[in-house]
Amino acid sequence: MARALKITCRKDMDVSAAIERLTSLLGERLSLAEAVRIQHADDPTWNPALPPDAVAFAESEAEVAEIVRICADCRVPLIPYGAGTSLEGHIAAPCGGISLDLSRMNAILEVRPEDLDCRVQPGVTRRQLNSYLRDTGLFFPIDPGADATIGGMVSTRASGTNAVRYGTMAENVKALRVVLANGEIIHTGSRARKSASGYDLTRLFVGAEGTLGIITEITLKLHGIPETVIAGICNFPDIGAACEAVIETIQIDLPVARIELLDAATIAMVNAYSDLDLPERPTLFVEFAGTGTAIHEQIEIFTGIVQDHGGVPGTWAEREEDRRRLWRARHDVFWAAKSANPGMVAMTTDVCVPISRLAECVTETQKDMRAHDLSGAIVGHVGDGNFHVILFAPPNDDVQKERIEAFAERLVERALAMDGTATGEHGIGMGKLAYMEKEHGRALHAMRAIKQALDPLNILNPGKVLPPETSLHKG
Ligand SMILES: Cc1cc2nc3c(=O)[nH]c(=O)nc-3n(C[C@H](O)[C@H](O)[C@H](O)COP(=O)(O)OP(=O)(O)OC[C@H]3O[C@@H](n4cnc5c(N)ncnc54)[C@H](O)[C@@H]3O)c2cc1C
Repeated sequence: MARALKITCRKDMDVSAAIERLTSLLGERLSLAEAVRIQHADDPTWNPALPPDAVAFAESEAEVAEIVRICADCRVPLIPYGAGTSLEGHIAAPCGGISLDLSRMNAILEVRPEDLDCRVQPGVTRRQLNSYLRDTGLFFPIDPGADATIGGMVSTRASGTNAVRYGTMAENVKALRVVLANGEIIHTGSRARKSASGYDLTRLFVGAEGTLGIITEITLKLHGIPETVIAGICNFPDIGAACEAVIETIQIDLPVARIELLDAATIAMVNAYSDLDLPERPTLFVEFAGTGTAIHEQIEIFTGIVQDHGGVPGTWAEREEDRRRLWRARHDVFWAAKSANPGMVAMTTDVCVPISRLAECVTETQKDMRAHDLSGAIVGHVGDGNFHVILFAPPNDDVQKERIEAFAERLVERALAMDGTATGEHGIGMGKLAYMEKEHGRALHAMRAIKQALDPLNILNPGKVLPPETSLHKG
């Protein structure tokens, strides 16, 4: 299958020596327990949980630097770990080595409301940050469905339902502190709102999935909480009509704050899991934010678009608890789908296409599912042209897994043919390695040169992002 690429591991690693030196540095904060090692390699999908040899719990930047130096001396892989919610085998240890758990570095170091920014350690989670900010009138908008760490979100270039208005992690990181593969500590970027100074190293580390350095501090942009926020739901006769309504909304530049698609099957799962009673039809969850009068005008225009596409506008919710319930249900789609498929294991796709091709890509994908007798949840951040299909198989059913992976491959081919990408937000990890060459062509050489320059020993999260050079066969 496309996903199974052979990873080549170093032959000269001295894991025992690394463990001995790390034990004297960290004491009980180096765990060799099997359950801990498996937990640190096991993501929420069916990607294999390839465990590291040990898990190191770091508590300071100086400690991270020393851990990196020890691993470099012993040629031992180091796999950074935040909350372990990534979806593409990012945290697996195909060559063994040390999982570096950064979740204890979770201090919010500084909030500067006058500059709309803050400085945090990598283990701070997005919910922790937003509850800390509650009384400041500011918030951090990037909201993957899981309570991920900021370090993990930087490293996967994460986004979520708010990206259509606030952008992704790529647009919301001002500066970083990073421990490089030789233990050296650098800072990138500044607190200025813009800079034309040199190569943009900040954005190089955003989305690098821990393969170029360990992020130990992040300066994030913050945003003011809008005066009025109104969320609503509308349903459509078919998924194509829902997508056409999204396309028109984005093309006329209606400033929608969130616009999310759930197909009819997903609505049934959400109703059961989140105790809702929505009509089981393709549905858009939408939100507008701003000042009172402008918002009502925007909602009126949007309602017209919905009706033009045969949709039924539902009720609008302004009260925070009503909106919260709605978005909680949206964020819980993955768990709703899991609970509708008890005992099964999951995989999720993540293509993103230019907005004008969204309807075509989604409807062709739905046809493909029907033609191959596959069922699953279709859900997406459609304002960005990004959607997921979540599919399930019994844990030991390799035939069904292969059928699903073949479907995922066709979906990526479809997105690439539309000038889109294999992954809008989840990243490459190990699961999407096979698409890198097709998507990036010769640019992959430049990526390899960067990796070689920054991590010549290939100790930082080996086997991720860059497919193996010599074994680019489909296994
Ligand atoms: C239910 C559910 C819903 C989700 N919804 C979304 C969504 O809407 N949008 C989205 O983008 N993602 C989504 N995700 C995926 C996931 O939440 C994101 O990929 C998230 O950014 C991972 O953060 P984490 O802290 O869990 O990182 P981890 O999974 O621990 O690590 C992710 C990667 O970052 C590296 N890393 C972690 N910390 C550091 C560090 N300090 N320095 C260097 N490298 C580091 C790791 O080595 C790994 O490669 C969802 C996941 C789930 C389970």
